[in-house]
Amino acid sequence: MNSSKGRLGGIGIYILIIAAAAVIYTAFVNMNAASGSYSYRDFQSDVKEEKIKTVNIKQNNEVPTGVLTISFKDARANVKLNVSDISEAEAILLENNVDYTLKDVTRESVWITTILPIGMCLLVVIFFMTMMTRQAGGGANAKMMNFGKSRAKLMNDASKKVTFKDVAGLQEEKEELEEIVDFLKNPAKYTELGARIPKGVILTGPPGTGKTLLAKAVAGEADVPFFSISGSDFVEMFVGVGASRVRDLFEEGKKNAPCIIFIDEIDAVARRRGTGMGGGHDEREQTLNQMLVEMDGFGVNEGIIVMAATNRMDILDPAILRPGRFDRKVVVGRPDVAGRLAILNVHAAKKPLGDDVDLDSLSRTTSGFTGADLENLLNEAAINAAKDKRKFINNADLNYAFVKIGIGVEKHSRVISEKEKKITAYHESGHAILFHVLPDVGPVHTVSIIPTGSGAAGYTMPLPERDEMFNTRGKMLQNIVVSLGGRVAEELVFDDITTGASQDIKQATQTARAMVTKYGFSSKLGLINYDNDNDEVFIGRDLAHTRPYGEDIASEIDREVKSIIDECYARARKIIGENMDVLKRSSQLLLEKEKITREEFEALFESTII
Ligand code: ADP
Ligand code: ZN
Repeated sequence: MNSSKGRLGGIGIYILIIAAAAVIYTAFVNMNAASGSYSYRDFQSDVKEEKIKTVNIKQNNEVPTGVLTISFKDARANVKLNVSDISEAEAILLENNVDYTLKDVTRESVWITTILPIGMCLLVVIFFMTMMTRQAGGGANAKMMNFGKSRAKLMNDASKKVTFKDVAGLQEEKEELEEIVDFLKNPAKYTELGARIPKGVILTGPPGTGKTLLAKAVAGEADVPFFSISGSDFVEMFVGVGASRVRDLFEEGKKNAPCIIFIDEIDAVARRRGTGMGGGHDEREQTLNQMLVEMDGFGVNEGIIVMAATNRMDILDPAILRPGRFDRKVVVGRPDVAGRLAILNVHAAKKPLGDDVDLDSLSRTTSGFTGADLENLLNEAAINAAKDKRKFINNADLNYAFVKIGIGVEKHSRVISEKEKKITAYHESGHAILFHVLPDVGPVHTVSIIPTGSGAAGYTMPLPERDEMFNTRGKMLQNIVVSLGGRVAEELVFDDITTGASQDIKQATQTARAMVTKYGFSSKLGLINYDNDNDEVFIGRDLAHTRPYGEDIASEIDREVKSIIDECYARARKIIGENMDVLKRSSQLLLEKEKITREEFEALFESTII
């Protein structure tokens, strides 16, 4: 289905008019032109052989050219012949005593060749102008016919309705969106209480993790129309088209409220403004501004929810995240083992599987795969089975598809080996234990060994920090201890260490250095700022590298930094050493589930104490 229904007819009319104009014009011109096959040479020989009865010459006085209309003595029909030099033709005719008439066509010729076409062009232009101003309502931003119309696709085909049932896993995400579904279903319930419902929800996560699916499901659950458009559709070749498309999209939305407007790849439009070198992209800025205007323009409870998806949250213009715009964020990550199994089950439901297929073990070996990857995997397996003329998918098909899809996955994420997974599990558990034990940091929110796509093999996330005015010395030290925990855990368990801790080490060093050079936490160096205090980035900063202190102070700083790190390292080693039991069980749990919650993690400590 298409929201631009009926507009095709509009374009059709334009095309018809243009075609008609062209036909009429060529007809006029052709009236004056000669028929093709009769040549001047034919004319000369016909004259000599006395085959010609009369000739009618139409001549333009200003130029030597003209048109002869020739009638023959035999049964031939009259022909027209363009000649380049009338006087030469006249001479031949005179010489052979052929009757001819001469007609000066100066005026008629100018009329036909110049004024008429210009007039017709003018008519066409005037016609278009009236059409355009009518459409744009007299606005300055004339819509170029239908180019400015939004390309939003409306989807409310009942047979293709997507609901939360079709979205496997993503339990938390669905819960977060439940409220929006409820609002779309009964807006009155909220408006009567004066509750403010978010206008915009931004879904962020790697491609193929089900963001579009989730947005569709919200519309499906609430049974409202779903308009979808991609950010890249806004950024087009004509200036001003993006902005007018946005206007149109929202107009459409308002007509169909309550509804969901889904903007995929919003980063294509909503990139941070003014970062482009030398002026930047006016077109994109205009589009973004229009979007902000529209979002600010409609009332909070008008029943339009704008959902947007991106995998580049970091490059978005902060303006779009302000209250009243996209003030809700839902992170859609890669699925863990249980999530992958659920997704495999959803997509395998319509595919016959052989007895040797074990989706459970497949879900374990597909770490890093997104929902789209898994769907793709089952699809490839089905294709392979069909090629073999089998009626069901067997394990060999899945293995074949795994290799095929796995290469693609490797590009955007990583297919990780069991050994790597095990190391990561211990590494992250190390961080997590320290978060839990140390008083001023943490508590742990999630521990995960699902590769993030930005290169990290896993992550340990503490609960969001409270906004505190000061960072204390104790807290900074504890942060260093936590950073070193990953490496310490690796050392305590394996006989080799990995490069995976480089980011942690960098983080720890930076903190320690800041403590010494910026915050005056070192008694040896005192309350002096040894930091350049050049937070602005300018080219050549590292090259210039002016140090406001000498060599001896520099080495003293290094010594102090090292001693802080050493002290923290010892502390990390001691704490993790005391909790080896938790470390082991936490790693095992991680290997099993890939992602564990605060409750699951903290339960490990309780069972140790008993
Ligand atoms: P995104 O918008 O995040 O790039 P999509 O929503 O377009 O990803 O997902 C692409 C396809 O992957 C979906 O059409 C669906 O078949 C499959 N898929 C992704 N995530 C899930 C999920 N959680 N449950 C079921 N299918 C999923
Ligand atoms: Zn780490």
